[in-house]
Amino acid sequence: MKVKEDYKGFEVGPIRPPSEGDSLLLRLTRNCSWNKCTFCGLYKGEKFSIRSIEHVFEDIENLKLWIDALSEENKEANNLAELKRVESLKKTAGIHNEWAYYSATQWLKTGMKSIFLQDANTMIMKPDDLVDILQRVRDYFPNVERVTSYARSHTINNISDEDLKRIADAGLNRIHIGMESANDDVLKIVKKGVDKKTHILAGQKVKRAGIELSEYYMPGLGGQEYSEGNALDTADALNQINPDFIRIRTLALPDDILLVEDYRNGTFTRTNDAMMAKELQTMIKNLEGIDSYVKSDHILNLIEEVEGRLAQDKDKMVNALQWYLDLSREDQIIFSVGRRSGVMKSIKDFNDPHRKERVLNTMAQFNINESNADQTIDELMKRFI
Ligand code: SF4
Repeated sequence: MKVKEDYKGFEVGPIRPPSEGDSLLLRLTRNCSWNKCTFCGLYKGEKFSIRSIEHVFEDIENLKLWIDALSEENKEANNLAELKRVESLKKTAGIHNEWAYYSATQWLKTGMKSIFLQDANTMIMKPDDLVDILQRVRDYFPNVERVTSYARSHTINNISDEDLKRIADAGLNRIHIGMESANDDVLKIVKKGVDKKTHILAGQKVKRAGIELSEYYMPGLGGQEYSEGNALDTADALNQINPDFIRIRTLALPDDILLVEDYRNGTFTRTNDAMMAKELQTMIKNLEGIDSYVKSDHILNLIEEVEGRLAQDKDKMVNALQWYLDLSREDQIIFSVGRRSGVMKSIKDFNDPHRKERVLNTMAQFNINESNADQTIDELMKRFI
């Protein structure tokens, strides 16, 4: 195998959406092209770059090599020569194949059904390059059912309808957009770099191109002051988009994000779990005339039951949040600590006496009480970022 001189090997970026846990991670860009959101520390200090199409092709070649060598047919045939070839490749290929080998083994285990294009805003690539890469991927792995990517609304708005359709036709069938909020004040304060109108136009554009759309909403991002506005404007924008998925991603405040400075100097007023539950409930109550699926696929979210198809499961989701809001303050703290310590995740778990006892023991051991519960829960949430 001939390797290009400036090719540094198969690359894998830091994150993917939770729903892409079984996907092959194929890195087209590095880091985030915007990198200014005050609630996000993921790519801070990291430079954005677009990988050359030749290097991405090299990754795909490497991967295919390993997939072919490791595939089930070869194992079943007990092809000793093939296994020897794999071992020899592992030894000689060094860094150029290490991640490709690891990715191939993982992807084979999960059935090779989906691919996630990394990093934070792959859609910023030239449409022609994206189309070429998608076609290569579809040619090499014809049984793949889903190819997905993150995108910024701002970037989507800069792609013509025609180009987006070409990208869709080449095989991109789902886009994840971090809307977070559609309240213009909140978007400005957290430096999201888009406004409500841009979010709406981008979402509608993705749907028009025939690409599935996931929109992420972040309860708590507006703090106490904009909590209701965060809920109402986001619901209004989502009603105008009708995304396939609305994914809930509750705000957490890890130490390395800029928003923490605002929190410490008092310009950002943190919502606690009860306030965020109320905000999320307001948002869901105001979703009207759409058939999106609401997903709660992140451990930062408070209640697992807040999930379902609109409109049929709307009452179920609203009622699950009302269940928490109706608890005594003491029970709210028990559930929140249980959730954030990994002991509870659902209403059913709260009613399990063994789990409750474990949480009460933890609270006694670390002296968690009403006066320090919110800070303790904040600390526990940092572990999940
Ligand atoms: S656009 Fe996304 S990845 Fe980039 S800084 Fe904002 S939240 Fe983070």
